Amino acid sequence: MTIDSIPAQATTEQNVQWERVRGRLRTEVGEAAFNSWLKPLTLQTIDDRKVAMAAPTRFMRDWVVKNYADRIRALWQEQDPQFDSIEVAVLSARAPAKSTENGQDDGQTDADGLAAPNIVASSGAHEGSLDPRFHFDQFVVGKPNELAYAAARRTAESETVTFNPLYLAGGVGLGKTHLMHAIAAHIRARFPARRVVYLSAERFMYEFIKALRFKNAMAFKDKFRSVDVLMIDDVQFIAGKESTQEEFFHTFNALIDQNRQIVISGDRSPSDLDNMEERLRSRLGWGLVADIHATDYELRLGILQSKADQAGAEVPQQVLEFLAHRITSNVRELEGGLNRVLAYSNLVGRPITLETTQEVLRDLLRANDRRVTIEDIQRRVAEHFNIRMADMHSPRRARAVARPRQVAMYLCKQLTARSLPEIGRKFGGRDHTTVMHAVRRVEELSQMDAALAEDVDLLRRMLEG
Ligand code: ADP
Ligand code: MG
Repeated sequence: MTIDSIPAQATTEQNVQWERVRGRLRTEVGEAAFNSWLKPLTLQTIDDRKVAMAAPTRFMRDWVVKNYADRIRALWQEQDPQFDSIEVAVLSARAPAKSTENGQDDGQTDADGLAAPNIVASSGAHEGSLDPRFHFDQFVVGKPNELAYAAARRTAESETVTFNPLYLAGGVGLGKTHLMHAIAAHIRARFPARRVVYLSAERFMYEFIKALRFKNAMAFKDKFRSVDVLMIDDVQFIAGKESTQEEFFHTFNALIDQNRQIVISGDRSPSDLDNMEERLRSRLGWGLVADIHATDYELRLGILQSKADQAGAEVPQQVLEFLAHRITSNVRELEGGLNRVLAYSNLVGRPITLETTQEVLRDLLRANDRRVTIEDIQRRVAEHFNIRMADMHSPRRARAVARPRQVAMYLCKQLTARSLPEIGRKFGGRDHTTVMHAVRRVEELSQMDAALAEDVDLLRRMLEG
């Protein structure tokens, strides 16, 4: 079925929902797979309960339906529970010159892409380019990622093969793809004769399956075994995919034997890859496994500063600090948060303040909020100042208990998305103005009293960590 004759009639609200679905997918599947499969999808129509989307080719449509339909449907249902079915059609009008019905043509396009000299990036299904923002000098280095960064740089700059493979291990949105693109771009610039192939493991699997289907497995093998640098992103994707693992294993060995560089990323370390053949797991750990750890506050602040500078935007330090404290999930969300604030201030033509930031990012902040509860904060603060938990709720006003209570209220305001009245209720039914007063008081005192400022900082770190 093709639906190109039907005009897209999604409303603004639906387009916003679609953007959210896309954002979630992007975080879940990673940049490489998102660009390959999901980014090209377009929203067509929504009637009542059915959401219709379209993919540019039949191949892509089939892949998306097979691998992502359940997630896409679930995400749409989160937007609105009434959306209970989805449909992905083929948008043939986009490519009038080729038949999208037999899949052969786009197969040919990909094969051509793969044979191109020097660099082949399959991050965008048909663009064949690396993300130009993902360079080493755009990567902010801190404790959690310094080893991965140093190893990536060494791999990119070295004349000879150093660690083989280099394996970058880290959770979603922590910079794996960024570093991989940076390595590829660096080698391309510095050693233009080297053939660098970067692709997601998912894309590798897709190419492999297609080669089998079109009976050119030999050509596939030749292509991947004749590269100088092979980079496979998100290797966890092929866990449980036996024939792809088998093929990958042979490719891997062939390249190692010829002393060609291999760079792999995965969302966990090789030994933790479940459903991965033991021999492949152990081989993935042969070289250097560099962990990218969750961000810490300093790194988040550094990244925000760098991104704000790049955008040429004036963002008050207080706002950057607030974001660094509150968006702790991953760098992608951190960046997304900053971008939303910048876009908002741009649109309404007003400078960025802490209030607008809180307003604009309310949903994101809530999602980042799960971890620390008011009770956690009260308990920690009580322990720290050696008072009883009950003193958090009691009416006692002695300084020895009142000050810690104020610190706890302040931290609740900083670290959770609870409103002032909600916080007040949890502190023995106090009024929201009491909480507001506590927040101001602690802010003032921290300016003058270094010991208190240190206590607050320490508590915040413990609660966030
Ligand atoms: P992953 O592949 O690990 O899921 P990405 O490499 O796609 O994560 O990173 C997500 C986003 O965060 C990208 O826009 C990337 O540029 C940015 N990012 C991650 N780490 C850093 C860092 N240390 N400095 C600057 N930007 C970063
Ligand atoms: Mg990635």
